[in-house]
Amino acid sequence: DAPAVHPRRNPNIIITGTPGTGKTTHCEALAARIEAAVAGTGPEGDAALAELRHIAVNDVVRDRNCHDGWDAEYQSWLVDEDKLLDELEPDMTSARGGCIIDWHACDLFPASWVDLVVVLTANTESLYDRLALRKYPEAKMQENIDAEIMQVLLTEAHEAYEPEIVVELASNTPEDMEANVDRIVAWVTQWRKDQGV
Ligand code: ADP
Ligand code: MN
Repeated sequence: DAPAVHPRRNPNIIITGTPGTGKTTHCEALAARIEAAVAGTGPEGDAALAELRHIAVNDVVRDRNCHDGWDAEYQSWLVDEDKLLDELEPDMTSARGGCIIDWHACDLFPASWVDLVVVLTANTESLYDRLALRKYPEAKMQENIDAEIMQVLLTEAHEAYEPEIVVELASNTPEDMEANVDRIVAWVTQWRKDQGV
């Protein structure tokens, strides 16, 4: 039999983790590398990034109304996941692919849409300091710290996806971040090679 043809020419990557673990920081660092790759000013090895794009799911929720209102006490949107999936489906199921999804949940995405799940983790002190800076309400702060200690996101990722596409990366220091971004870029390059793109 002929090998199955992959539906996309770029991998879809979920960057997930408890709030404050560094999802947006990682995605923005990746976005800067993508921009340089497109402009032709980045390192030669970054060429594989040219068609990737950062999708800040929080902005999609807010701008395309994928919610049932704002929870003032908890300071977050009441997310309508069905609507959110409808909004993301055209990009995530496109032949281009290459969506870098920045979101604090992962198992809502069908496995067929997802090529890599990066679960960022941070130690309690780092996370506490970061969330305190954000002035999270006490209940939300505690809930997120508990979720990180209980490895909720890691468990969610492992329950929803094949083990070989789930990667846990520590995000405690700027050096961690840099190493993680390099690793993701190397993974994208290898993925495209493996697909013969
Ligand atoms: P998330 O998007 O997961 O909620 P952010 O990317 O907004 O988290 O990061 C929260 C805060 O933590 C920011 O102030 C960011 O600069 C800091 N931060 C994130 N990752 C790291 C890291 N690896 N090292 C140092 N600071 C980090
Ligand atoms: Mn974020």
